[in-house]
Amino acid sequence: MADHYDVLGVSREATPEEIKKAYRRLARELHPDVNPSPDAQEKFKQVTHAYDVLSDPGQRRDYDRGPQPTFGGAGGGFGGFGDIFENFFGGQSQQRGPRSRAERGQDALLRVEVDLSEVVFGTHRDLEVDTAVLCETCNGSCCLPGTSPVTCDICHGAGSIQRTVRSLLGNVVTSAPCGTCRGYGTVIPNPCTTCQGQGRVRARRTIPVDIPAGVDTGLRLQLPGQGEVGPAGGPQGDVYLEIKVKHHEVFSRNDDDLLCTLEVQMWDAVLGTTATVAALDGDIELEIKPGTQSAEVLTVKGRGVSHLRGNGRGDLRVGIQVVTPTKLDHKQKELMKQLAAAHKYPAPALGHFQQGLFAKLRDRFLNV
Ligand code: ZN
Repeated sequence: MADHYDVLGVSREATPEEIKKAYRRLARELHPDVNPSPDAQEKFKQVTHAYDVLSDPGQRRDYDRGPQPTFGGAGGGFGGFGDIFENFFGGQSQQRGPRSRAERGQDALLRVEVDLSEVVFGTHRDLEVDTAVLCETCNGSCCLPGTSPVTCDICHGAGSIQRTVRSLLGNVVTSAPCGTCRGYGTVIPNPCTTCQGQGRVRARRTIPVDIPAGVDTGLRLQLPGQGEVGPAGGPQGDVYLEIKVKHHEVFSRNDDDLLCTLEVQMWDAVLGTTATVAALDGDIELEIKPGTQSAEVLTVKGRGVSHLRGNGRGDLRVGIQVVTPTKLDHKQKELMKQLAAAHKYPAPALGHFQQGLFAKLRDRFLNV
């Protein structure tokens, strides 16, 4: 890429007037009407483009500031062409010397579904993954056994090729990765036939994972170094395990508390009873006290989900729903009538909607 100042034959400090003058002179000399040679036509285009840029103060400022080549020999300098090319190749900028064949493997995201009952105490999974593992034939060297990489003839092991371009401003040294060895500084004359010189092969692998108690949907567990082996046997990437807790028919979750409801027949709510209920981790005896109301919440300490961090468990919270019997036989109806007559109950009373059963249950589950 020719330097615009170079093309116009002016210095970097040239005034707008000097630039205009230089352009006029060159245009007269190179204009296709005057000079029919194809060479001149190409030069005229370059000159015109250079003038377009340098005659506009804004564009000239950008051009002056733009990617600067490294001046006067290798080493030092900043933001040279070499850096740009290295960025294209995914290498680190400012990196000097040949790059390594071995690269870290990529990270992988796996998703796993667990039951709520598994969340209470934690669980174990053997995850089958299609991944890349180290080639056992070459052990990641990429070479046929008994052979090794040889120094690249073109860059002599440097991994990059430097070109010196003479310009008005002195010698400009540009550096680009060697196309023959792709910047590695070595070539592999006899690639491993098992992995085609990749140093790794595709394989199915089992990753054993202990999923801790207390995980919740959306949580990501990091499994360091369980990902694929990188190119040329590079270090393994990480696996991230994203948890999804399956919907449960009975229990839902609020932080580490487990929530459910229990239907209690009206007679039991009036007289009291004991109920044996199946929690996620075994049976629990619940005492229904005489006079239990709908939306009352019974709390069973320490029978919820184990805390993800720290010891202990949340609570099990059981919301009571008193069920009004709908099918009474003749005798039962008579008994109810006697009961009603024997006791003076208040008439049905209006209340605020928010004090309704569902709101009450919700409030008590979440705030009590
Ligand atoms: Zn191999």
